[in-house]
Amino acid sequence: MLADRSRLHIALQKSGRLSDQSRDLLRETGFRIQSGKNSLTARVENFPAELMFVRDDDIPTFVSDGVCEFGIVGQNVLEEFAAGQEEPGYEVLAELGFGRCSLRIAAPEGTAYDGPQSLAGARIATSYPLLTRAFLARHGIKASVVKMSGAVELAPRLGIAGFICDLVSTGATLEANNLRAVDTVLESQAVLIRTTKPFDDARAFIAEQMLSRINGVLATKGSKYIMLNAAGENLRAIAALLPGADAPTVIPLRDRPGHFAVHAVCQESVFWETLEKLKGAGASAILVVPIEKMML
Ligand code: ATP
Ligand code: MG
Repeated sequence: MLADRSRLHIALQKSGRLSDQSRDLLRETGFRIQSGKNSLTARVENFPAELMFVRDDDIPTFVSDGVCEFGIVGQNVLEEFAAGQEEPGYEVLAELGFGRCSLRIAAPEGTAYDGPQSLAGARIATSYPLLTRAFLARHGIKASVVKMSGAVELAPRLGIAGFICDLVSTGATLEANNLRAVDTVLESQAVLIRTTKPFDDARAFIAEQMLSRINGVLATKGSKYIMLNAAGENLRAIAALLPGADAPTVIPLRDRPGHFAVHAVCQESVFWETLEKLKGAGASAILVVPIEKMML
């Protein structure tokens, strides 16, 4: 099965916080994915690709070994893997904007903390021992790191460690355990990675096609198409107000000499305030529409 070298292999988290959004991203690139959640692999019906559903911790290994050419994984897992390798074996192609969290140092409420020096001599429980040690080394601090594979937030209560270093998104788990985040080791989100092992020409071609679709999907997220009318003398001021748009299209209006239609793709959010400013600068008939697909 893995010997099918005419297809691309993409490693995704089987079930967990990244799995739904990873599948959704691929669906938005037009992939029709067969199979339910319990299979370990799934063929894409309409594209020469196969998905491998694995534990997120295994994704960096699969991709750097070249078993899968691509993978979607959190930067936290990726950086912990990379810290233990001489050559990481993958490259990061894109930040995907989901799975956001931070790896943070936390301690029981009331613990004194004024910077990393407060960790000197302490015990820190974590599932990310290499990243935690790298953080300590960066600050020249000596402390002991206790590796736990889960339920790290219980460590202070059990007397295993005075501090923990764990993933936080809303902070609700910390709060529920009477802990408070005091420092940040890493900000993380899901990323798309590619093996550094070489591809043959056939797979390089399909990989380019897939990447251009993924980049298109990422570019449309948060992008809007904006259309408005304006007099020639106001065009410069209006163009400066269009958020994240670099060359608007300007079209003369046939029945109104000196007036133009302006069309632009805005890569940033378009707020009501933006529309009010555009109007103030002389724009009229302003229309903002969502973009469904984009190929750059
Ligand atoms: P697996 O069974 O695949 O090993 P897991 O239990 O290690 O799963 P999940 O809890 O599903 O992992 O988290 C997967 C990833 O989601 C994390 O590595 C991280 O990148 C991201 N993430 C986003 N928010 C959080 C959070 N609040 N806590 C933990 N991980 C988060
Ligand atoms: Mg895991």
